[in-house]
Amino acid sequence: MTTDVRIQAQIDQILARVHDGGRISYDEALLLYEHADLLDLAEAANARRQQLNPGNLVTYLIDRNINYTNVCITDCQFCNFYALPGDTTKGYVNSKEVLGQKIEETLALGGTRILMQGGHHPDLPLSYYIDLVDWIHKTYPEIEINAFSPSEIQHMGIVSGESWHSILSQLKAVGLTGLPGGGGEILDDEIRKRVSPKKIMTDDWFGVMKVAHELGLTTTATMVIGFREELRHRMNHLQRLRDEQDDSLARFNNGFNAFISWSVQIENTPLARSRFADEYGATSTEYLRHTAISRIFLDNIPHISASWPTQGAKVGQMALHFGCDDFGSTMIEENVVSAAGAVTKVSPVMEPQEIHRQIRAAGFIPAKRDTAYNILHVYEDPAEDANLTSLAEIRKGPQAGNNWQPVTIVN
Ligand code: SF4
Repeated sequence: MTTDVRIQAQIDQILARVHDGGRISYDEALLLYEHADLLDLAEAANARRQQLNPGNLVTYLIDRNINYTNVCITDCQFCNFYALPGDTTKGYVNSKEVLGQKIEETLALGGTRILMQGGHHPDLPLSYYIDLVDWIHKTYPEIEINAFSPSEIQHMGIVSGESWHSILSQLKAVGLTGLPGGGGEILDDEIRKRVSPKKIMTDDWFGVMKVAHELGLTTTATMVIGFREELRHRMNHLQRLRDEQDDSLARFNNGFNAFISWSVQIENTPLARSRFADEYGATSTEYLRHTAISRIFLDNIPHISASWPTQGAKVGQMALHFGCDDFGSTMIEENVVSAAGAVTKVSPVMEPQEIHRQIRAAGFIPAKRDTAYNILHVYEDPAEDANLTSLAEIRKGPQAGNNWQPVTIVN
């Protein structure tokens, strides 16, 4: 047998195991990543998707990414969202009034969740975050509050001297329902030390998430590819994630409910000015290959989301045929990857009707969900789409706060 034939025979054997519902190893996933035919990967990823989420539904969420501050001391090389402390032109801390307007718009659109994140502001005490969640929960009890990625929780720990367990317990007690999986990028310190040396490292990212799992909070995991990493770095991220998920499920019967990846957007960031600028990022084909490998390998994470805001709607649709069972969210507002130069360039929004159109055109049935992936409504009949609320209609009046204005009110 020639090497090519031998490799193909190995690939066929591994893919057959995936189709039978079996787990594959790190080395086997690496072999698929390097050598498998893209469409064979898609087929296997879809088989895995059907094992975990049988049927033809594709879910989505109506939510809004809200940023309470963009002031940050962490200087990540891939970020164009943050402002340094003292930058009164770009820096802001949003007032409760502005945040309240944004939440009211979200509710008016049928939104069920806010995803609230911010920079690492050196002067905000732990009491600020607790008061903020408490106020949102008491004022808008119907909205789910997913807030503060692991790096923000670590930052609160540094500022307050309190443990992650204490911080997350206090936030949960006042209404926090879950943590977004932000700040994952590549969970391999070799890459993190190069592109974001002041940001949370791998062990601590998983350490914070472990406490969240223990406390029964919902969590997701993210991954960003295209930092000039090698395939082994990507596989290290996926392996660590799968191991931690096995452990969390065994110990707490709670773990990451979804995984989403996308390619780094560098256009307006320091990475675009580096001598390696042309080597950052990933092609659509690479994104789809990575999506399929993730779906196949992460057999213990129930849901995989497509990332239309960074990859574009058409690639997002294709991802639904590479193992994704979720189309993400409406993104009523997003300021971080769009500032870096995502496909959509400005804060991307996809109207619920448009999400339905994209999902149906890809051959699936749209279903609205909540953060925990409970199905809220299945839109079997396309005629129902005409009744969906339009964000443009809601926004005919004055719009909720412009984040890029310097707002310095804390309370
Ligand atoms: S990515 Fe987050 S932590 Fe890094 S500089 Fe931007 S706001 Fe700060």
